[in-house]
Amino acid sequence: MKINGACLCGEVAYEAEVDPAAVFACHCNDCQTQSGTAFRTVVRATPGSFRTTRGELRSYLKTAESGNKRSLAFCPNCGTSVYGGPAPGEEGYLSLRVGAFEQRDALTPRAHVWTRSAQPWVFEAGEVPRFETQPQARPREEAK
Ligand SMILES: [Zn+2]
Ligand SMILES: [Zn+2]
Repeated sequence: MKINGACLCGEVAYEAEVDPAAVFACHCNDCQTQSGTAFRTVVRATPGSFRTTRGELRSYLKTAESGNKRSLAFCPNCGTSVYGGPAPGEEGYLSLRVGAFEQRDALTPRAHVWTRSAQPWVFEAGEVPRFETQPQARPREEAK
C-alpha cells in the first residue's frame, strides 16, 4: 500500500510503501516518551520505498535496550516524529509513525508489542467517557 504523510507544520512531507498487515501498537518506554502518549502506531516501510517529497528531516540517535543504535527522524521545525531507522552507515528497516500518514484511518494495529511497559489503562480505554471534541466543562481533577 502506498502512503504519504506530512508533519504538523507542513515543512516535511514524504511517501513510502507499507504492508497494512504489519501495523503494530508499540508500548515501549521510548515510544511513550518520544510521542508524549501511551503508545505509538508503527509500520515498517518496504525497503528502499521511503523518500521525502518536501523538506529535510533531522535525527536523534538513541541507544535501544538491546544496545542497538536507532536514528529517530523528526521535523526540525515542529518535532513531528516520522520514523525510527538504522544508525547512519548501518543496514536496517525504517519503522514509520502511522499517526502522520494521510491514510492512517486505513491502518489498524494487528498486534500490541512491548506490552511489558504498557500503561495499564490502555486496554480498558474504550470503557471511559468519550467526547467528540474537547469537552467544555471538565471535572477539576481532570483539568491538570
Ligand atoms: Zn513540521
Ligand atoms: Zn516503541
